[in-house]
Amino acid sequence: MSAKIVVVGSFNADLVTYMPRLPRVGETVSGHRFITGPGGKGSNQAVAAARLGAEVVFIGRVGADDFASIGFQLWSAEGIRSDYVARDPENATGIASIFVDDGGENMIALALGANMALAPSDIDAATAVIAQADVLIAQLEVPLETTAYALQRARAHGVKTILNPAPISGPIPSDLLVEADYLTPNETELAALVAGGQQMPIAQSAVQLRSRDDQTIIITLGAQGVHWLYGEQSGGMPAFSVNAVDTVGGGDAFNAGLAVALAEGRPLLVAVQFAQAVAALAVTRAGAAAAMPLRAEVERFLSQSGTFLSDNK
Ligand code: ADP
Repeated sequence: MSAKIVVVGSFNADLVTYMPRLPRVGETVSGHRFITGPGGKGSNQAVAAARLGAEVVFIGRVGADDFASIGFQLWSAEGIRSDYVARDPENATGIASIFVDDGGENMIALALGANMALAPSDIDAATAVIAQADVLIAQLEVPLETTAYALQRARAHGVKTILNPAPISGPIPSDLLVEADYLTPNETELAALVAGGQQMPIAQSAVQLRSRDDQTIIITLGAQGVHWLYGEQSGGMPAFSVNAVDTVGGGDAFNAGLAVALAEGRPLLVAVQFAQAVAALAVTRAGAAAAMPLRAEVERFLSQSGTFLSDNK
């Protein structure tokens, strides 16, 4: 039986202009090329989980505009259920207007639009699929209140919850964090979540972050791998050594990999290793959703990498 994953989160249409240099205030600079594509942390994680073989339901909100069709086309092509994606009559689809210069530097204007209208009632509308899920994943590109509600409803049905606390733009209430069975900040997010976290060793911040004894903390450290904490145990696990070309989407790949492996009942460290393999492959390719690897690629990569953990250990 395949893993059943529910992702609650954002979809944004990325509107990308490639240009010789970034404009100054009041200036117009002509670009070389313009492309549109799907983005948003929620949708990216949904795509990654689907490519790993999970049955994925995406819960989100888009506008009644044409940009929403970029999302619906993607979810249909990836086999992701989108019947719990609401179309908002008042707010536009989330848009990331991205300028990229010839040196690869970028500037991004993000208008989350309909994502910020995702409401607890949207979660209630999806109760039936949430109750049947193995794992529910959420991030922070939709209202905090809705995220907290989704995690809480999932836990009430015995569904494991992962909160990827990204991106962080202000204080995060502790009654949201406590609803996560697994919390997966990167180093910057960890520092924002823990008072005085910038001055503290990572292992100590992880302990500070934990809000209940049975919560698992996994800090992602880019090319350094992860630091994990569960119960009395904690430790580091190195990343796979790969030639990274675009680290956008690394965190999204990691969270999806973690969700799928946990949904399949794999032990924590085996799941973390699997998640790191998914992320390692994603950072070797350009883009976010487009960079997510297929299950067969991950299995091949793991068998070629001489991994040190197996399900039997
Ligand atoms: P985010 O993308 O959210 O900032 P990180 O940069 O911590 O998150 O990356 C998430 C995970 O992706 C890491 O824990 C690691 O497994 C993998 N990863 C990221 N960068 C690299 C890299 N250069 N080489 C190998 N793995 C990487």
